[in-house]
Amino acid sequence: MTEQNTSKRDFILIKNVEFFGYHGVYDYERGEGQRFLFTARLFLDLDRPGESDELEDTVDYGAVTAFLSAYLKEHPFKLLEAATAKAIEETMLQFPMLEGMELTLQKPEAPIVEPFETVSVTRQMAWHEVYIGLGSNMGDKKAYISRAVSAMKENKLCRDIVVSKLVETKPYGGVKQDDYLNGVLCMRTLLSPDKLLGYLQSLENEAGRERMEHWGPRTLDLDILFFDDLVLDGEKLTIPHPDMQNRLFVLQPFDEIAPHFRHPLLHKTAHQMIEDIR
Ligand code: ATP
Ligand code: MG
Ligand code: MG
Repeated sequence: MTEQNTSKRDFILIKNVEFFGYHGVYDYERGEGQRFLFTARLFLDLDRPGESDELEDTVDYGAVTAFLSAYLKEHPFKLLEAATAKAIEETMLQFPMLEGMELTLQKPEAPIVEPFETVSVTRQMAWHEVYIGLGSNMGDKKAYISRAVSAMKENKLCRDIVVSKLVETKPYGGVKQDDYLNGVLCMRTLLSPDKLLGYLQSLENEAGRERMEHWGPRTLDLDILFFDDLVLDGEKLTIPHPDMQNRLFVLQPFDEIAPHFRHPLLHKTAHQMIEDIR
């Protein structure tokens, strides 16, 4: 997968492209329309085209400009927030070479009484590299896991999915129950950490998971192990997963698919974390 901790942030800038659009809360804005401008910052590795001097190794800024301009003209939104959110997602999906993008939408004739220069909204989006722990210990365990993996493969906001071998493991946490089937999945996603958690929980629910005792039996458990190098300790979400370094059934499959990835807090590879608990 991508190299961890690349601080390189090459970009192409498309600045202040004018177009006539129909975004706004008021009827007259949606009927008569007005002038807008957008600025897009396109993040991708520019080393290859820098060496090769070939258009196919980079993203065609003319094509991106035409796509964004057409999208923003043809899809009216009440809010600049929604217009930027949808336009940035559609553009990222249309141009797979883009690793990330920032989009600013300006509305210089917005309904503001005071004299002003412009008003704008800026959104960012990027493909994130995430690792997900897979587990099941009820019913047809393999089927529950492969159904969830297939659903992710069909989700356009997820790509480059790699799944480790699935291994049978003994239950963890002292509750008496059937053996587990465990594995780790790696993918790139446009979802935010919150949205990813919600999505994984919806897949758990589709597998008929009922939340009973902690660490008790379940048809499907999908845990976020890592989300890029993000460190987060929130009410709903802790990243990296706070106990993964103590679980062989996570570390072994993780080592198989990401031997070079370093835990962003412990700064250790899977192999080193395995050594620590042996
Ligand atoms: P464990 O997280 O120790 O493996 P579990 O997977 O059995 O336990 P769940 O019942 O699946 O726990 O989830 C309980 C809550 O954990 C979820 O509602 C979710 O909000 C929260 N949570 C916190 N961090 C994470 C994470 N990194 N991935 C998934 N869920 C998380
Ligand atoms: Mg779990
Ligand atoms: Mg869980």
